[in-house]
Order: sequence, then structure tokens, then C-alpha cells
Amino acid sequence: MTTFISKITEIGPRIIRILGCNPGPMTLQGTNTYLIGTGRKRVLLDVGEARNAEYITSLETVLQQQDTTIDQIVISHWHHDHIGGLSDVLKCLHEPVSVYKIPRLEKEDEPMPHLISYIPLKHQDEIKTQGATLRIHHTPGHTTDHAVLELVEEDAVFSGDCVLGEGTTVFEDLHSYMTSLQMLVKMCPKIVYPGHGPIIEDPVPKIQHYIDHRNQREKQILKVMNLETKKFLTAMEVVKAVYKLFSHPGLAALWRGWLGDGSGGGSPGLGGGAGLGWESGFRCRRVQRDSQPLLLSFTRTHQNIYTLLQLRMSPTICINS
Ligand SMILES: [Zn+2]
Repeated sequence: MTTFISKITEIGPRIIRILGCNPGPMTLQGTNTYLIGTGRKRVLLDVGEARNAEYITSLETVLQQQDTTIDQIVISHWHHDHIGGLSDVLKCLHEPVSVYKIPRLEKEDEPMPHLISYIPLKHQDEIKTQGATLRIHHTPGHTTDHAVLELVEEDAVFSGDCVLGEGTTVFEDLHSYMTSLQMLVKMCPKIVYPGHGPIIEDPVPKIQHYIDHRNQREKQILKVMNLETKKFLTAMEVVKAVYKLFSHPGLAALWRGWLGDGSGGGSPGLGGGAGLGWESGFRCRRVQRDSQPLLLSFTRTHQNIYTLLQLRMSPTICINS
């Protein structure tokens, strides 16, 4: 069961969490956005998705209750559930706002809506507001522009999508992601406020678990490659073999049911049909997620193995040669 998260939560004297009201397979209960500071002008971390009136109503309610406004917005990374609501949020603030973000490394950011420009952040920059100092840590992996924010006054970290309150996250680049996780462990935060899911108390063991889990998957992949007698394996064949060898029997059966023997099949009524592959597995997860939350972590992990294979090795893997 996923933890219930209220639309508005006063977490402490300087943090109010405002839920993005955009629940979904990749966003869990929705995006957590955070109003940070104690003064008449505060910092907002992330802005949820575009055209979400429910979120804007929550935000306006908080600003009114606190008799405050926002003069700085920090975007943790360029994903639509973190940046999409920017122009809607700016519309309900009636004064100039500075928007900050780390630029992407691999390509230029798309133009922001309504020609809004942002102030580029870099590692170790600080954003200050009354009652709070936020130190920026560049933590690529989930995306190249991902930032984690350290709340200096509280030994706390806003982890964005680097570490989630529940389950594990997906990543674009495993090597950078692992380096970012190690960086988080070294920071030794007392508490983590994630971009999705509940607050993580005692976060270091959880972050270490993320690291161990990824290392374990790599070992499993190597084992499969040593066991297989075929000379060539596609990435998908390795994924399926890992699940066959290491998954819980129930999950392995579901996996086989979804993808059949890799050439077709799938579960009726779940978007199945001929030529099912990774993409169709993804669709199945979306359909199933609400009633079977367990499948979320199953398929998230599956995606991660697939990404790992795509990124670390060539899609067709040569073994024993
Ligand atoms: Zn997200």
C-alpha cells in the first residue's frame, strides 16, 4: 500500500509540502513540491504539472494562510511533473520571481513556456531566503540536470527524484546515478524530503540499499551471461533470464504472462497483442498499477535493468568470446 499524502502538510517551521495532485505510475501519490522559508517571500521547490487547477488552489491557499508569497523557484530537474506547472504558478504570483535550475548537459533545455528564462545553477551554489539556506548539489543520473537541495539549517535534503519515498527510481545514466547516490550517503542527511512519496527518516540505510540493489542486479546479469550457452544475447533476453533466475515465482509468472516467449502473447485486456516487447510491458504496468502496487517496483526495476544494459553494454551482448 502506498502511504497517504495530504494535499498540504506543514512539515516544520520552515517547510510546507504541497502535493502536485498528479498521481500516476511514475509520480506515485503525485509530485511533492515544497514551500521553504519563514518570511514574507519564500522559495518554492518544483511546481508540479501543467494545467492542474487542484494544485494551484492548494498553493494559493497556503500562500494566503501564511500571508506570504514566492520570489524564488528552484526546479529540481526538467521533467514535466516538476517543471510543467511553471507558467501556471507564475500567473498566480503577482511580482517578479527568479527561477533557478541546473542546465542539462546533453542538449539545450527546451524553451520554457511563455519565454520564461531561468538562472543557471551550478554545484554548491546557495539559494537564501529568510529562515533557510539551500545548498545545491548536482546529482546527475535520473537526468543530467538533476539537483538535490541541502537545507543547511536542518541537516535535511530535498532529494528530487534521486531517492523516492517509496520504491526505487529510474535513471538515464547508471554510472552518474551511482556516483550521485554515493554523494548523498557522504552528506549523511538526518532526513530526506523526496520528490515523490513520504518523508524518509533515517535515510542513509535506504540510500545504501539503493546502491546495494543496483550492484546486486549487475551481479545477476553477469551470472546470467556466464550461464547462457548461446553466443549472443539481446538486452531483452538478458532481462528475461534475470527474472527467470532471480525473481519471486509469482512475479516471474506475471512477466512470462505479459511477454510470452518474446514473440507475442501478453495478457488479454491489458493492451496485449502481437509483437509485444518492452513497451507493451510498460503499458501493462500502467493498467495494473492501482490495484497491484507491487508491480510498480517490479517493472521499475525491469526498466532499470534494461537501461543498464543499454547504457553499459551494447544492445547485443557477445559472451564467451
Ligand atoms: Zn518526478
